[in-house]
Amino acid sequence: MANRTVTSFEGYNVYKGVSWKVDKNNVYIKSYPSRIEKGISYKLYEKVWKNYCPNCKKSGFLKGFGTKGSKFGLEGQITCTAPNCGADYCGVTGLDTWPRNVRLKKGSAVSGTAQSAKNDTTEEKINNIKTVKKQMKPKKTYSDILMHKPIDIVDMVRMDIIEGKMLIVDSLTIDKGGYHCSLTDDLGSLLTEEYKEPSKKNTGTGATDIASDIKGKTATQAYFMRKGAELKTATACFNWLKSRGEGGFKYSGYTEHKKSGDLYNWHEESAKWCKDNHLFNCVDASWLLAYMFLGAGLKKVKIHHGYTCKGVGHFWVLLNGKAYDPTSSCQKGTKGRGTFITLG
Ligand SMILES: [Zn+2]
Ligand SMILES: [Zn+2]
Repeated sequence: MANRTVTSFEGYNVYKGVSWKVDKNNVYIKSYPSRIEKGISYKLYEKVWKNYCPNCKKSGFLKGFGTKGSKFGLEGQITCTAPNCGADYCGVTGLDTWPRNVRLKKGSAVSGTAQSAKNDTTEEKINNIKTVKKQMKPKKTYSDILMHKPIDIVDMVRMDIIEGKMLIVDSLTIDKGGYHCSLTDDLGSLLTEEYKEPSKKNTGTGATDIASDIKGKTATQAYFMRKGAELKTATACFNWLKSRGEGGFKYSGYTEHKKSGDLYNWHEESAKWCKDNHLFNCVDASWLLAYMFLGAGLKKVKIHHGYTCKGVGHFWVLLNGKAYDPTSSCQKGTKGRGTFITLG
């Protein structure tokens, strides 16, 4: 697999060979495609674009960028710095990276200093990349992350997944220019928030009660039921388990159970993964919270499969008509819409 060297250009991290030059009229850019299209290979191209943004229809605001802070683009891209615009463009195709409905206009001049881009990638390597990309193609659109907007995972991690690294979305901001992800390959960096051990309040009688309650339960069910028994109230359980709460758990963008399995049933392997990694999506988080509630002795605990405010499928826990949502603050259909699983 091709292993591109990352270097620095104008304060940005970029792949070796990526560079740009901007003047009043044109943007000269040597870049890799931000996404492979028909007829485009993953190699260094040299292009000249008009310094005109088709999104905000202003001239003279385009500049090149790579990866720095909230900006992500080792392959070299073009962004519009006009106020309230922020559109990002692929340096090779000129297409805006999201929502991909405008394209830069071809420039009229050739840079005096720019030389023909040297292609250091053999045909064989390109074919390897294409094969990997094909294998990595997601089966469905990734539609349950943070803002609950539909995102194509290939768009998000783009070429870095092809480099053979496992990357995790660390933060995601959305503006008119598109999605800006910062990615990390360090799982530890996601778990840097201070972990607070919940206060231990043993009641004596609680220990006996929970012992009979957890009989016949799985190891992970028992773990969360014990936590629930210790914390006693729905609010205390919720504050411990919720994303960025006292228990040190954080939201992770994936769909359904982490390790597959029926959404409407407990999935031990997924629950254990969440417990061990302190990460969960709405489905797994809701199952964990429901078992904490059961451990706290709460009855008629319901798991609600409804929708977010944005209309995306979403899970939370319902208790006495109140929504306890560990991963989002916006639910639609709390009044009877959706699917309910009642426990306890
Ligand atoms: Zn613009
Ligand atoms: Zn959700």
